Amino acid sequence: VTTPDPRRQRLVDDLAGNAAEIATLESDRGRLIDASQSSNADDEHDPEGATIAFEREQLTALLTRAQRIRADLERALVDIDRGTYGICERCGRAIGAERLDARPQTRLCISCARQAPS
Ligand SMILES: [Zn+2]
Repeated sequence: VTTPDPRRQRLVDDLAGNAAEIATLESDRGRLIDASQSSNADDEHDPEGATIAFEREQLTALLTRAQRIRADLERALVDIDRGTYGICERCGRAIGAERLDARPQTRLCISCARQAPS
């Protein structure tokens, strides 16, 4: 009998939200790329092109961040299945429950995270 693990469920939920976020960002970026191709985006003196380039940069940064979170969430799920979830990968101590509630994909305990902000 497998009892539902609330930590695992939280990660699965977060992963679903994260996937939706990535899909939205990717489609927004696709629209921007289309827009930049139909306008004179290569002309840096074209104010519209500059705006599009800026927005694309912002979107790319958000996408990179979301993809990093996805990788961490996927890894956390693997850790749960292995029974090594919630253990700080730097000092090997248990990560506090409050921290796991706030950032379920975290790999560092609070004191290690403070020493090495990621
Ligand atoms: Zn630690």
